[in-house]
Amino acid sequence: MNWIYKFFDFHTTSGINRVAYSEDNMRFNAMMIKKMQELGMDVTYDNILNICGTIGKGEKVIALHSHSDSVPNGGQFDGMAGLVASLMAIEQMNKLPGVTFKVIINACEESSRFDQSCLGSKYLAGKIKSGDFQKINKDGDDLKSAVNYGESMLWKWLKQFECKPITKTNHVIGKGEVDYAVEPHIEQSDFLHRQGKDIGVVKSIAAPYRFRLKFQGDEYHTGSTPMDERRDASVAAAKFTLSMYEQAGLAGSFLSATISNGTQSVSMNKSAPEVLMKHDIRMLNPWTPEKMSNFVREMIATIERDTGVKIEKNVLSTGTPRDVQGEVYKKLIRASKNAGFKTEEGMVSGAGHDAAYIPAKDSGLFFIPNTGGSHNPKEMIEKKSLFNAAVVIKNFATEAVKLT
Ligand SMILES: [Zn+2]
Repeated sequence: MNWIYKFFDFHTTSGINRVAYSEDNMRFNAMMIKKMQELGMDVTYDNILNICGTIGKGEKVIALHSHSDSVPNGGQFDGMAGLVASLMAIEQMNKLPGVTFKVIINACEESSRFDQSCLGSKYLAGKIKSGDFQKINKDGDDLKSAVNYGESMLWKWLKQFECKPITKTNHVIGKGEVDYAVEPHIEQSDFLHRQGKDIGVVKSIAAPYRFRLKFQGDEYHTGSTPMDERRDASVAAAKFTLSMYEQAGLAGSFLSATISNGTQSVSMNKSAPEVLMKHDIRMLNPWTPEKMSNFVREMIATIERDTGVKIEKNVLSTGTPRDVQGEVYKKLIRASKNAGFKTEEGMVSGAGHDAAYIPAKDSGLFFIPNTGGSHNPKEMIEKKSLFNAAVVIKNFATEAVKLT
């Protein structure tokens, strides 16, 4: 298992930069492909640069998946830990009769490149079509050009690592092809570590609803204008923020509301005529993008009426929360407990994951303990935890065939 050191340094605390479709991201993908080929897997990739290694000819199709891209100056285990644990499990099982395994590297999971997350798995789910690639853009950078550059970098590094040829296809997996999809992922906080747990199994995945607001009021002299005669953008923004926080705190509501503010700078004796605000809400079932959109619209109307301030809303991205409490969920819990691991059941993931989109008859997600948070260079897991994750995958797969 010394090969895992090619992918990780268990001592470093320096940040990594594998932003989606960058040369570093593709170099890592080529390294993974090399390992997949050493394990005897056939490798394909698709139009959005999802990559898939396949092994076995069994009837039951199990997809193990995660992502290899990172946020700028991110941690080395986010995404990669799940992929490496999956390959460790494949290596240990040395083909399981009755199963076809697919290890999928999902493209562009992080929203840092295009303000939208999980592009690869959404593409597999049919939520993004090839024709949409040019429309997905940020700061003059579009998905089509990013994919073209990424593809050329991928081939450059495949050659460098002397990989065997890989095949291009429209979609690396078809709808209805995968029976069980499992995403192993590091936990993005340190709850499991603090609780002394070995594995956490997730029951629901939150989805983001991100929007920008512009509060347009007037500019006033702060001393001479009576407060009740003002159309004060800051007051309207504060009311909106508080209402969101209150709603987020209600039981059965959404998980969190986070606001990043930008107020136009003015002198101290003038009120700000305009406030710009970005909201990142994480919804859980039963919230949907439609329900959230109506809720925000009503709140805007009330505050406009109360303050006289004009509020403009612009939705940046949204997704659908997903409950993952089916067969895979139950099997993952059993797989972990049978290995004697201290298992946390029923976890909720505030962060979005490809498991919410990847097309499969049933999907699941489990967490590997992590210290130091995530999306930062301090992210750290123990080597033992990677081995544990591989054991869970192995037990899961073995049981999955026995039951058919
Ligand atoms: Zn991740």
